[in-house]
Amino acid sequence: MTRTPEIGLIGLGTMGANLALNIAEAGHVIAVFNRTSDRTRRFVEGAGPLADRIVPAETLNAFVDGLARPRRILLMVPAGAPVDEQIAALRPLLDTGDILIDGGNSDWQDSAARAESLQRDGLGYLGLGVSGGAEGARHGPSMMAGGAPEAYAAVGPILDDIAARFDATPCVAWLGHGGAGHFVKAVHNGIEYADMQMIAEVYGLMRDGQRRPDAEIAQVFGRWNAGPLESYLIEITAEVAGTTDPETGKPILSLIRDRAGQKGTGRWTVMDAQRRAAPLPAVEAAVTARVLSGEDAWRSAGARLFPQPKRAIALPDDNFERALLAGKILAYSQGFALLARAARDEGWDMSLAMVAQIWRAGCIIRSGLLDEMADALAQDGPDSLLAFAPGFARRLQDGVPALRRVVAEATLAGVPVPALSAALGHFDQLRQARGTANLIQGLRDRFGAHGFERLDRPGETGLHGPWGDA
Ligand code: NDP
Repeated sequence: MTRTPEIGLIGLGTMGANLALNIAEAGHVIAVFNRTSDRTRRFVEGAGPLADRIVPAETLNAFVDGLARPRRILLMVPAGAPVDEQIAALRPLLDTGDILIDGGNSDWQDSAARAESLQRDGLGYLGLGVSGGAEGARHGPSMMAGGAPEAYAAVGPILDDIAARFDATPCVAWLGHGGAGHFVKAVHNGIEYADMQMIAEVYGLMRDGQRRPDAEIAQVFGRWNAGPLESYLIEITAEVAGTTDPETGKPILSLIRDRAGQKGTGRWTVMDAQRRAAPLPAVEAAVTARVLSGEDAWRSAGARLFPQPKRAIALPDDNFERALLAGKILAYSQGFALLARAARDEGWDMSLAMVAQIWRAGCIIRSGLLDEMADALAQDGPDSLLAFAPGFARRLQDGVPALRRVVAEATLAGVPVPALSAALGHFDQLRQARGTANLIQGLRDRFGAHGFERLDRPGETGLHGPWGDA
């Protein structure tokens, strides 16, 4: 017999439907509501035996009335206006102590504002970043929560039950007040952009610099998935590159148009990083590459005007593997540095080791390396760079020479590797004790009297050069 629903979910799209089934399968009774009732009916019909634990509602009032108190309502609607509209519709129907959870990809600043506004009405709010796509939502996502700790305490046990597990540990955590959860999700997505772009660059080097067929490239990625690069993205790269289109018999990748979509989380991450002066060059390069992928008219005109140099790339596969690993470590190091800066700026009580732990399973960037990252981040303070932690510094000492060869060969052959070279450029700046900003400061002082510091007069600021009255 159906009990009173412990939680309600609004929005039975791809993510909402799968999360609702996951919650029901974990033994919880769940109420569901969708703007279009037809979708609710189809959802319940397709739920099989789990339908016993699903209570569909045709109206928002019936949905809200049926929930156990305090109410826990998970919103799974598109980010932006739909979330505000749904909150506005729910607000008059709720009682003090009820909790709203936004599980979409909302902008973290919107979540912070919503948390504050709902708190004024005595309502709890959690901004919950959910990663893992449809499959993760159904069988165990990684979840990043932000908002009131009391709200998390009330919802956490259900989230624990549905989260992915690494060993026995659920991949979900409270990471700070306000928009902390959605911020971490945005950085996760930014890292995902860089990870995917670097993988695509290595694919491009093998395809265009070595003229290798997709099936052979798939085998290389498949082998790498048994080594230090082991990760979900490498695994599915092998799968996608090895797939044949049943209609034409051709490799599916040869038929997929080379324009990449994006919903904005990568761009938000990059903009936020610049605002905090904690840049993420590899993610920036990846976001830019997606934008440029849409400029096919320019790319075709450019290809006609400036044909690719006739030069094959004669690097062995293990060189690509080590380069990819180095690039990946550098991108993650940039991402964690941004998280540390944001946590400090926003007063979030966030453990970076915990972030790495909850990314170890369920999410799109899950990988063997994240377990090592969690250990390194637990040992180092928030001001140190992951790339400089002993285990990762050793991996970079091994991988960076390979990355240099890849970037150099790619450049000579005219095969674009913007994310790999951005990661390398950032690394080289970080290991240049005497940089070239002395010239920048000299120029700024020469044209704008901006002043500089001198190495031979420590402590004095606003000094000027002998430029005269130019
Ligand atoms: P879908 O497009 O599959 O579903 C959207 C759902 O929201 C539908 O149930 C739709 O109802 C409802 N909806 C749309 N607009 C409104 C509105 N104005 N008011 C009320 N309900 C509305 O989206 P997804 O499930 O893919 O995504 C949901 C959220 O999860 C998004 O924020 C997305 O970015 C995020 N997300 C998605 C992932 C994915 O892999 N798809 C991964 C991680 C997060 P109706 O049936 O009436 O149209």
